Amino acid sequence: MLRRTFLQTLAAAPALAASNDSPPNIVLIYADDLGFGDLHVYGSNLSTPNLDKLAAEGTRFTNWNSANPVCSPSRASLLTGRYPTRVGVPAVFFPQDKVGLNLDEQTLADLLKTKGYKTQCVGKWHLGATPQYLPTKRGFDHYFGIPYSNDMTPRVLLRDTTVVEQEADLTSLTRKYTEEATKFIRDAKGSPFFLYFPHTFPHIPLGASERFRGKSPRGIYGDVLAELDWSVGEVMKTLQETGAARNTLVIFSSDNGPWYQGSSGRLRGRKGETWEGGVREPFIVSMPGRIPKGKVSAALGSMLDVTPTIAALCGAMPPNKPVDGLNVWKLWTGEVTQIEREPLLYFDNVHLQCARWGKWKLHVSRYNRKVYSPAPATGLRNLLLPNPELYDLDTDPDESYDIADLHPDVVRNILAKIETQMKTFPDAIAGDWAVTKTKKVSPTPAGSLPRSID
Ligand code: MG
Repeated sequence: MLRRTFLQTLAAAPALAASNDSPPNIVLIYADDLGFGDLHVYGSNLSTPNLDKLAAEGTRFTNWNSANPVCSPSRASLLTGRYPTRVGVPAVFFPQDKVGLNLDEQTLADLLKTKGYKTQCVGKWHLGATPQYLPTKRGFDHYFGIPYSNDMTPRVLLRDTTVVEQEADLTSLTRKYTEEATKFIRDAKGSPFFLYFPHTFPHIPLGASERFRGKSPRGIYGDVLAELDWSVGEVMKTLQETGAARNTLVIFSSDNGPWYQGSSGRLRGRKGETWEGGVREPFIVSMPGRIPKGKVSAALGSMLDVTPTIAALCGAMPPNKPVDGLNVWKLWTGEVTQIEREPLLYFDNVHLQCARWGKWKLHVSRYNRKVYSPAPATGLRNLLLPNPELYDLDTDPDESYDIADLHPDVVRNILAKIETQMKTFPDAIAGDWAVTKTKKVSPTPAGSLPRSID
């Protein structure tokens, strides 16, 4: 969305925060590698009573998507409302990397600071590990957490920019995070606050405290989810006890699909793939008196929408760059059931792989190997599909039947929209797509891994 359009949207919308005396608090809880089918309320046989309760008190969405199937890019889009390929985060960062989310990008925390919010990030950051890229330079007053994935070395635990554990203890991590998060809520004392709470788990390696270890019928993965669910319950309890709950928007979601152990809810694909299982996420929003209770919505939405929606809700200035996400507050409140939009593009690294337009999903390129698999992904190449594959997600959510031949007009239409959008991307991204289209590939069946001709 252009900045001008965003401002018009903001002006046209009712002063969303005006019905309350004070601006709403924001609690954004983001799990790591949690699958679409991992919560009880999304069909899992695991017990997640606190998340079930959150869904019962709010609205849960069944068609909400991450902008990317891996950690860093997903978070970049969540906090900027812009495609990760626009903001310098096409791929996952490693501890030794000297770069992060482009410094000229504003995060949601930056936007809320302009409205006097207290801001805290607790958990996995993964948008740059050198001091200028850490949360304390990206709009957050304070930070506590492992600044990247827990399988990376050195696995330091930071308070602001200071190492407080050289090797973070994974068994106590969720408990410590939860103590930090609830303390922040208690200390806010009347000031509007933004708690960004990106959990380290269930990204592997897993760890759970003694209270939860060995208790789940699904082993350590179930133990970790039980503790994560407990943590959500503690946050909700603290909001109640402090009186903040009645004016707090709570969002729960995950950055990408499951890796080895979680459930994608019978969707095709997992972490690192742009099949639905890699990008569709549980998404629950709750705000007393504003968001309908116990509602289930199939409206299409994206993690790109979170920042523009919250900025508008809180009366904050829009981002200083054109945003790709939309203000979807009316979807969250149930005032509308769908919002028309241009196709959502899915990239992996710099490579455009597919586009989602309403119920349609068009796959245009794919890796020749599975990226996140037990076998090392050697010789990895992203290749054009011999023929674009079209799936109707309303009738075929697990992307089993390519029906491109039945709907050539839809394929043409989406391809044309892709070309229009790609012109707006940085040269490296648009150029990669241009080159991909020129490379010859072998004929392969729909849904399979492509093979190059050379
Ligand atoms: Mg992740």
